[in-house]
Amino acid sequence: MAEALHPSIDNGVKPGSPSFAGGTLVCKCAADPVKVRIEGNVAYDHACGCTKCWKPAGAMFSVVAVVPRDKLRVVEHAEKLAIVNRDAPIQRYACKGCGVHMYGRIENTKHPFYGFDFVHPELFQESGWAPPEFAAFVSSVIESGVKPERMPGVRSRLKELRLEPYDCLSPGLMDAIAAHTAKQAGVLS
Ligand SMILES: [Zn+2]
Ligand SMILES: [Zn+2]
Repeated sequence: MAEALHPSIDNGVKPGSPSFAGGTLVCKCAADPVKVRIEGNVAYDHACGCTKCWKPAGAMFSVVAVVPRDKLRVVEHAEKLAIVNRDAPIQRYACKGCGVHMYGRIENTKHPFYGFDFVHPELFQESGWAPPEFAAFVSSVIESGVKPERMPGVRSRLKELRLEPYDCLSPGLMDAIAAHTAKQAGVLS
């Protein structure tokens, strides 16, 4: 049996719509849900195995993407949001009612990803958002309790879904982080 990774990809990665122009992320509360408006599409959508990203119940991976921070606006029930850990590089705003993380924000202007907010596109009430393209921090699922002997099955399922598994971020993002660090150090101009 194929390893179950995340409900939005277990039956195949749904293609996005080229005309997707944004939408509304909605938390899981039955009453008074938090709503977050996103203008435009998400980027760098990926499955993430880290222990910090929010995952739906039973999922091994999260699905997470970025949007420019000026394209994200909390439009309903902002009072229900609380920061999970103020000291973390990414401040994740979770709903106090249902626990869902609505967005993650970086306040350190020197951080390589400053200017981008992290969101979970499965929370869009609309469909058509840009689909996940790779899998990051795959080995970290072991830290959530996945037995190491299951990892070959996990990686082969990710490959079958065309989500290339990486144990950090994708090469493009790792290069971007290294270039940012090198520029700050004056090694690169
Ligand atoms: Zn909620
Ligand atoms: Zn993560």
